[in-house]
Amino acid sequence: RKALEEIRWLSITDGLTGLYNRRHFFEEAEKEVDRAQRYHRPVAAIMLDVDFFKRVNDTHGHAAGDEVLRKIATCCRSEVRELDILGRYGGEEFAILLTESDIERACQVAERLRIRIEAFPFVVKNVNLKLTASLGVAERQLDESVESVLDRADQALYLAKQRGRNLVVRSD
Ligand code: GH3
Ligand code: MG
Ligand code: MG
Repeated sequence: RKALEEIRWLSITDGLTGLYNRRHFFEEAEKEVDRAQRYHRPVAAIMLDVDFFKRVNDTHGHAAGDEVLRKIATCCRSEVRELDILGRYGGEEFAILLTESDIERACQVAERLRIRIEAFPFVVKNVNLKLTASLGVAERQLDESVESVLDRADQALYLAKQRGRNLVVRSD
């Protein structure tokens, strides 16, 4: 039974950060959105992408990059609550589904997370790195699918990059 649990765990999490992988994040987010729709509850999504992350790999090596990603995951974990859903969405992209949260609360969480990452002492190979992230936020609208709300958060993230990075942008 222990081995089965282990296999199940490996199939839903990301090996580097221990967060949910993209597929499982999506499955959990879908359940939460169904619940929100049924009970008319607010739910919001945050997409986060590390700024100029490629530089970390190029300057300090891939292992240092991996270490940074683990620390970003730690930053994310410390800003969300037990019932929120957190996943590694892509290479240096993270997604959060905030249960029982409207756009105002989601923007507060995103802004706190942005500040935490900006202030975080990333030490890799005895070098002190300064890193930032850009974040996009969207609140789910009535009858909106998970895909759509994540997509709007992603578009807001894209705007945050365009507007200079280290920024939270909300989707209207
Ligand atoms: P931007 O501010 O526009 O987001 O710039 P960026 O450099 O962060 O973005 P870009 O998409 O150019 O680079 C992302 C890099 O992330 C490229 C890829 O090598 C690296 N990456 C993706 N997954 C991993 C991983 O698991 N470990 C490490 N170390 N690097 C990864
Ligand atoms: Mg990216
Ligand atoms: Mg990036």
